Amino acid sequence: MDNCIFCKIIGGEIPSATIYEDDEFKVILDRFPSNIGHVLILPKKHYADIFEIDEEVAGRLFKLAVRVAKHMKEVLGLEAMNLVQNNGTMAGQTVHHFHLHLIPRYKDDEVSVKWEQLDLTDEQIAEVQAKLKL
Ligand code: AMP
Ligand code: ZN
Repeated sequence: MDNCIFCKIIGGEIPSATIYEDDEFKVILDRFPSNIGHVLILPKKHYADIFEIDEEVAGRLFKLAVRVAKHMKEVLGLEAMNLVQNNGTMAGQTVHHFHLHLIPRYKDDEVSVKWEQLDLTDEQIAEVQAKLKL
């Protein structure tokens, strides 16, 4: 993808602080992190988002995420971490090349991953359940 910043990072046109790389994935530090140690896992192949990514690639990516998370926990001495993965501009995605955020959490940090909760009735829940059942 010509105009994709992450494809350019993967292709070496734009520098990145890489912490891991293999044939299929690149793991880099977020250049504008929410917290110290904010990591991004990128598949080397361009998929815009969760709706495009190959299921098998996503499976291997998540396996790698577990490895990276455990490593980060150990070396950063973490107790907590958020995984964030945005899909679509409306959901806050700014780089339209699939990526998973691993965000270390420290006591009293300023990171916010919160939303207002809806107070649905059991009937409303059942309606949504019926619609979404796979
Ligand atoms: P999202 O908003 O989920 O699409 O996340 C995109 C992320 O990419 C943001 O957290 C940015 O800080 C990060 N980012 C943008 N440009 C670069 C870059 N050149 N190198 C590393 N991370 C970047
Ligand atoms: Zn790309």
